[in-house]
Amino acid sequence: MPSLQSAVITQLMASMGHEQVVFVAEREVGLRALIAIHSTALGPALGGVRFWQYASEHDAMIDALRLSEAMTLKAAVAGLHQGGGKAVVMWDDPDRARPSALLHALGRAIDDLGGRYLAAEDVGATTADMNGLAETTPWVTGVDESLGGSGDPSPVTAFGVVHAMRAVRFALDGDSSLRARRVVVQGSGHVGSHLARLLVAEGAEVIVSDLFESRAEALARELGVVQVGIDAALVVPCDILAPCGLGNVFDDESIPHLQCRAIVGAANNQLGVIGADRMLAARGILYAPDFVVNAGGIINIAEEFVGYSRERALEHAAEIEATTARVISFAAELGVTPLRAAEQLARSRLAEEGAGRPWEPGDPAAWTNGEPLRKLRP
Ligand code: NAD
Repeated sequence: MPSLQSAVITQLMASMGHEQVVFVAEREVGLRALIAIHSTALGPALGGVRFWQYASEHDAMIDALRLSEAMTLKAAVAGLHQGGGKAVVMWDDPDRARPSALLHALGRAIDDLGGRYLAAEDVGATTADMNGLAETTPWVTGVDESLGGSGDPSPVTAFGVVHAMRAVRFALDGDSSLRARRVVVQGSGHVGSHLARLLVAEGAEVIVSDLFESRAEALARELGVVQVGIDAALVVPCDILAPCGLGNVFDDESIPHLQCRAIVGAANNQLGVIGADRMLAARGILYAPDFVVNAGGIINIAEEFVGYSRERALEHAAEIEATTARVISFAAELGVTPLRAAEQLARSRLAEEGAGRPWEPGDPAAWTNGEPLRKLRP
């Protein structure tokens, strides 16, 4: 019998402000998962489903708690009427497709939450996974466009990252063009590859990298750009470093060696230690908070609720440029790091507009035009 650590879990939940964590296991289909709902104060908790190989269940839990909290902040700063949630599935080989029985079991667990958690794609997940979940629950976003969903959000996320980069470049140099700027893209997956393509189209000098060298190699070949190893990616002199892999990139070990002027990337939870934002600022590196930069994905999904249009999603994602600029100027005004400024903006909105109690199906939400949330599919 494994030891029960529920006291530790509820302490963490209470200190981080989580509403609910659901543990799901179905032995027959090999499912072991956690669904964390951080906040539904602004609306139902939206967040990706991550399929990943975790060293321990504790690591998976911490990941779910931190990622769901970041989703709350992200939705709040982006002006969306959504809360923050995340599901993590312990999955040993992210490249192995998920059997439909497993997706159905996870879908049933999501369905039991009655719309308090809305699933989406995250690392390791694909549109096929969302389609599979949708067979047992309507509370899933990002399903195939042919099924009425918005499909893969990563092109819109990458588009938002480019706009955040423009704001950062303007803050540094008074010019928002990315032409001839050197940008290192760490991670050549869904977002990283779209980002690299957009940056090449902008005339930037792009360098790519990936844990799986073959992915970076294929992207470098396609775009005619340089590929570097994962260690070199952090120390190559560049204007902008764009983390687009996993989190916890910046800590006491990596920060002293960085050779970039700014960090603007899609990865969630890039800062690996408390105080990393101040360490970066002390090195003169402008860090644009990840949850501000990478909001394109949930901005894209929010469009599903009002009848999806890719054009409108891109239009809204372009607003990330103004939001990033606002965060940077608010930080200067307060004399704090952009991370603290963004957190303050998010918390003010949660306090002013939050319902003051958990969201319930039937509550009005502005993104459904004031109507109670409808099930996304019958
Ligand atoms: P993905 O799984 O398609 O790609 C991630 C890539 O990063 C993989 O190829 C992986 O091998 C690589 N990688 C992991 N660690 C690395 C490292 N240390 N150095 C170099 N490469 C590394 O995932 P994705 O959908 O592109 O998402 C990337 C990041 O952006 C994640 O942190 C995700 O949570 C975040 N994010 C994604 C979206 C989206 O729309 N997909 C939206 C918001 C945030």
